[in-house]
Amino acid sequence: MRILIVEDDEVLLDGLCQAMRHSGHAVDCVGNGKDAVHVLQGEVYDLVILDLGLPKLDGFSVLRNLRGHNQTVPVIILTARESVDDRVKGLDLGADDYMTKPFSLPELEARVRALLRRGQCGANPLITCGALAYDSVGRRVTLNGERLELTSRETGVLEILLSRAGRVVSKDQLIEHLYSYAEEATGNAIEVYIHRLRKKVEAAGVTIRTIRGLGYLMDKASNG
Ligand code: CA
Repeated sequence: MRILIVEDDEVLLDGLCQAMRHSGHAVDCVGNGKDAVHVLQGEVYDLVILDLGLPKLDGFSVLRNLRGHNQTVPVIILTARESVDDRVKGLDLGADDYMTKPFSLPELEARVRALLRRGQCGANPLITCGALAYDSVGRRVTLNGERLELTSRETGVLEILLSRAGRVVSKDQLIEHLYSYAEEATGNAIEVYIHRLRKKVEAAGVTIRTIRGLGYLMDKASNG
């Protein structure tokens, strides 16, 4: 999944980026509110982690701008401001969650997972299709209970296809959710991941069909 982190404390920003990348996400980072508004207008994200005290434009303004453009991307406010008034204001402006610094990284990661799940497929951390199961907490894929060895990027592709099983996902959508701003994404790379995944999941009674001109569709095999 693709995450934007808006934070002006460089050490914290760096630590958060590393942690989110380690969890398998594509991460973009910006250090002030104006840049945040700018990238949010041009890019697609699955989640935003937003500081409030920011140079140029504060986090409340970023949030107001985002919701004013009807963007429904989940937002977690992560801030040193702990007053009830600030919490209420943040949530009423459209934040989905509010955490105060100092914070626990495992708790932030769990809240990120919870919000990403709700954005995709409901509250269940386990997504299944045929004999294939994806545990979004451990980022583990199993086939009939046996661990399937996948690279981080293959897991990312599978996660998106599984969470939209039965629906067509375009190549552009896969690229949007899998790559950060700085990474070069190509349709050819996506084709390679799909090709590898097909081989790995066919034993699970799951197919990944290519819908010409539209994208890919994951579903249970018709005889499965
Ligand atoms: Ca700050």
